[in-house]
Amino acid sequence: MSTEKKQRDFDNQDQIVAEAQRNRAQREKTYRAQALKIYPWICARCGREFSGKRLRELTVHHKDHNHNNNPPDGSNWELLCLYCHDNEHSRQQVAGAHGKLTPSSGHAPPATYKPFADLKDLLKDKT
Ligand SMILES: [Zn+2]
Ligand SMILES: [Zn+2]
Repeated sequence: MSTEKKQRDFDNQDQIVAEAQRNRAQREKTYRAQALKIYPWICARCGREFSGKRLRELTVHHKDHNHNNNPPDGSNWELLCLYCHDNEHSRQQVAGAHGKLTPSSGHAPPATYKPFADLKDLLKDKT
């Protein structure tokens, strides 16, 4: 266990993340405007319509969860309201923290919380 090394990697990552977030904030403005031009102002999940001030609640979701993937034809974008967008991401967060995303798998592995310690061993035997 080399926690020290991990900590250093972490600091490094923080800088990268900070930079990426700056860039992302810039890009977000651009691709959001673009997505709103291409798509009707309707949440793709719940079907609510948005206009005027409430348009702020309509956000751009990346289908492959890669915010750097912004094809100009909008094929990676989906307009989702804040609530549906939140839902979409809370389903993915566990998987995301552990590496590769599997958007189509439909269920996340029980990674962070273990109600029964024995369950881990059971799962291990199964898979
Ligand atoms: Zn919605
Ligand atoms: Zn999203």
